[in-house]
Amino acid sequence: MRHVVVIGAGITGLAAAFEHRRRHPGDQVSVLEAADRVGGKLHTVDFAGHRYDVGAEMVLAVVPEALDLIDAVGLTADVVQPSTTSASIALNGRHHPIPTGTVLGVPASVDDLVGSELFSPASLDRIRAEPDAPGPALTDDESVGGFLRPRLGDELVGLLIEPLLGGVYAGRADALSIMATMPALAQALQHEPSVLRAAASIRRDPGAGPVFATLRGGLAALARALVDRSGAEVRLGTTVRAIRRTGTGYRLDCGPASAATFIEAEAVLIAVPPPNAARLLGPLAPDAASALAEIPMASMAILALSWPSGQALLPMGSGLLVPPEAGGLVKAVTISSNKWQHLSGQGVLVRASVGRIGEERALRRSDAELLADAGQEVAELLNLTGAPTAGSVTRWGGGLPQYTVGHLDRVATVRAAVSQVPGLAVAGAAFDGVGVPACIRSAYAAVDALGN
Ligand SMILES: Cc1cc2nc3c(=O)[nH]c(=O)nc-3n(C[C@H](O)[C@H](O)[C@H](O)COP(=O)(O)OP(=O)(O)OC[C@H]3O[C@@H](n4cnc5c(N)ncnc54)[C@H](O)[C@@H]3O)c2cc1C
Repeated sequence: MRHVVVIGAGITGLAAAFEHRRRHPGDQVSVLEAADRVGGKLHTVDFAGHRYDVGAEMVLAVVPEALDLIDAVGLTADVVQPSTTSASIALNGRHHPIPTGTVLGVPASVDDLVGSELFSPASLDRIRAEPDAPGPALTDDESVGGFLRPRLGDELVGLLIEPLLGGVYAGRADALSIMATMPALAQALQHEPSVLRAAASIRRDPGAGPVFATLRGGLAALARALVDRSGAEVRLGTTVRAIRRTGTGYRLDCGPASAATFIEAEAVLIAVPPPNAARLLGPLAPDAASALAEIPMASMAILALSWPSGQALLPMGSGLLVPPEAGGLVKAVTISSNKWQHLSGQGVLVRASVGRIGEERALRRSDAELLADAGQEVAELLNLTGAPTAGSVTRWGGGLPQYTVGHLDRVATVRAAVSQVPGLAVAGAAFDGVGVPACIRSAYAAVDALGN
């Protein structure tokens, strides 16, 4: 029997603990978590009479890991799909329907874009002509903006791709890596120089079933079920300060220096955000630590806001994205009471997102100021009357790793360096994608790496 310690009780650490115990039921698994709750960015609170997600709010259903894990812990009966996913771009007082069928905003045909009335005729003409005179094929990693601006123009990047990337990564098109954030498109572009034709070759069949799903009681239920079903021991309020090698494995220093406790383990799986992982890995795998320390982190805040029913809400589906050039505080608005049946029927429930990389100043406001400023903006964007009747702010400092140019090389460096240290593995949102299914995939890869 081995003692395996997992550091971090976010979805990555908990999925790893569950999977390790499933494969090795005889092993003892401990999960050490600095906070006083499990789930990390899966965080569900009571708000306006609902269980409401103020971290991740849904999972991709088109990649299997999250829904499969939900099934494995017995929560499939609680899975729900959005009532609507049609959203708009808000610009200059107008709402432009977000074109469907694109690859993170990259169209397969100019026809995808026309109905949004977001782009000028000159921009549409330029995009239409792209397949006739494509640029050179993609060979080295580039930023999304750096590669796409000369081919499809600034309007498409600024008004559509930028807000979509802002929604997923809280990042900017001119910094994020095309190979890491649009991997399927980047792969197609290595053989097909036309961006439109490359997008057409990987386009998803629109009739292929729901894209997103969530849990009726909030996504934190998945974290709690993983704790219950894994048989792992979870220790809350336990910050790991340092990991040292011993003759037989590892010794972890936990808690404050004044009252340190030590935990011995044969194997350690690190599932914490990149800056925290870099600190822990420094003495064990310096190359991995340096590569992780290079990953920038974006901070953001999620505001939950509610207005009474009876509002003349415009028919705008699940919500709005606001491009950076609109200059507002709020970058995305989800009308949860429209989007999810289980959150409807008691007034207008809105989740507003504030903060992209480089916009940390916006978050220096107090909670009260954020609620006032963002609440007013949301009311204007959605045509709501009066101030919100309830509001809450959840801050995610350093919440999302930025997959900037060269990210795939950094990840390869980290994995190669950690693989040289026996009984050590690393996983999380920096590795295979920031979304919940991708974090679960990275957890399974780390369990593989620990071996038998
Ligand atoms: C606001 C927001 C909205 C998002 N929305 C979505 C969405 O709708 N869908 C989606 O798929 N993804 C979404 N994501 C991304 C996704 O939620 C995260 O990437 C994912 O949950 C990260 O999980 P994790 O376990 O790797 O890290 P975390 O959730 O960050 O968990 C790491 C844990 O490690 C703990 N920890 C850190 N250091 C130590 C230490 N030294 N010792 C002990 N414990 C430590 C932390 O307290 C934390 O609990 C969102 C992210 C954010 C920030």
